[in-house]
Amino acid sequence: MVDLKSYWQNYIDGQWVDGGAGRIDIINPATGEKLAEHALANAVDVDKAVQAAKRVHLSGVLSDLRPVERGRMVIAMGKYLLDHIDQIAPILTLEQGKPLWESRIEIEGAARYFEYYGNQAETVEGRSIPLGSGYFDFTTYEPFGVSAQIIPWNYPVEMTARSLSAALATGNTIVIKTPEMTPITNAWFAYAAEAVGLPKGAVNILCGLGHEAGAALSSHRDVNQIVFTGSVPTGIAIASAAAKNVVPCVLELGGKSAAIVHDDADLEAFENDVRWGIYFNAGQVCSAMSRVIVNETIHDDLVERISRMAKSLKVGPGIELQEFGANMGAMVSEGQRDRAADMITEAVSQGAKVEAGGRKLNTPGAFLEPTVLSNITPDMTIANEEVFGPVLSVLKFDSDEEAIRIANGTPYGLVGGVFTKDIDKATKAAQKIRAGQVFINEWYAGGVETPFGGYGKSGYGREKGREALWNYVQTKNVAIKLKG
Ligand code: NAD
Repeated sequence: MVDLKSYWQNYIDGQWVDGGAGRIDIINPATGEKLAEHALANAVDVDKAVQAAKRVHLSGVLSDLRPVERGRMVIAMGKYLLDHIDQIAPILTLEQGKPLWESRIEIEGAARYFEYYGNQAETVEGRSIPLGSGYFDFTTYEPFGVSAQIIPWNYPVEMTARSLSAALATGNTIVIKTPEMTPITNAWFAYAAEAVGLPKGAVNILCGLGHEAGAALSSHRDVNQIVFTGSVPTGIAIASAAAKNVVPCVLELGGKSAAIVHDDADLEAFENDVRWGIYFNAGQVCSAMSRVIVNETIHDDLVERISRMAKSLKVGPGIELQEFGANMGAMVSEGQRDRAADMITEAVSQGAKVEAGGRKLNTPGAFLEPTVLSNITPDMTIANEEVFGPVLSVLKFDSDEEAIRIANGTPYGLVGGVFTKDIDKATKAAQKIRAGQVFINEWYAGGVETPFGGYGKSGYGREKGREALWNYVQTKNVAIKLKG
């Protein structure tokens, strides 16, 4: 049964509170109907949350703990999410649109971050630097303090988990600004924080409009570090605000990621990569496979295969899609769906051919057919701009150099893929692709353990893996002059 209250509040300093900016309607994208209301924070609420987080940080109650103690709490938060997956998953589906089984995968993924970073808490060790016999010198890693985390609507649970778990494991306190369209499920992080015994004010969670609460948070003078996932223009606004306070940022800003498919690739297996790469979460994934760059000799065969697969996907309300399988839910909103549909129309006007899908469903809700576009050339808008929807663009190449040139031809550089049996070709391509992560023969290979982040306009800093821990700590060097 879905336990859906009609009104959800913000969580500041251990209290559930209304928002100074009123309320926002949360819409079920599968029906277009109102699901619930959520409190909207204003700048005053943001300040209260930041002050609470600052107070807890300065008290040392988290940062002074033996790391294993913090780690145990972080691990327990992940277990809490798993224990409540039956409650959280349907609500995530109702607010975000993804199939119920995808919501469960997202929550399991979120729990995995808490497991991983909880276990890393006691591994953040300094080192001793030799300065000769007259000195003893060592480094320590200290938390920044208040970590501000601005979350996107595509994976609200997993994205919060990614930054919250690492920030807590390293002893920071946190203010989370949840996305306006999908804020509800973040409430379980507050429940989890209470359940595992984190002090009041260590984790604050508020929903608010980007230009109001988001801007107030990213420009707040008592915020010490910022994590953002979302669009390039918003990333620039946040980085500019952070720069004014000389505060470090991690920016993860999406991409236009390409899979290069050589003529010896296993095309049957590749169908599955496309299925996950561009139709998982209806393509609303920053690292989606939004371009396929295929050797022209196998172009027609490949297009036929992936178009057949795209047409075989059942599209419908996520709450009815309970079993893992060949199906896809609604996009997050009619606005995002219409934006993607308009990009298809524009692509067609520039010469694209619709091989599969291309249309909105003639039913209520933010549905768009799984789409394959061929006849795409690198100069077209759709070959360069993020659609953030279930729309695959297929381009051709006739030499390895051309494939790399096309792959690297956008301002983005989040991930890339190479599909071939030739290990030398794959390795050379991996060296030349300008992206933070390269998948060989499996899109999305990797996991919580593997560092993730962008080159170019896809952002900077890395999430996931051990590398991400260093976003949340600053190095202190202590040099001791010894007597005698
Ligand atoms: P957005 O970048 O504007 O929003 C993401 C988050 O930033 C939200 O929490 C929002 O409230 C907040 N925000 C917005 N303006 C802000 C500001 N001035 N200061 C601080 N915070 C602010 O994204 P959007 O408008 O929801 O979506 C637009 C496009 O962004 C999408 O079509 C897609 O291309 C891209 N996007 C990418 C990702 C990703 O994972 N890389 C996620 C969401 C959206």
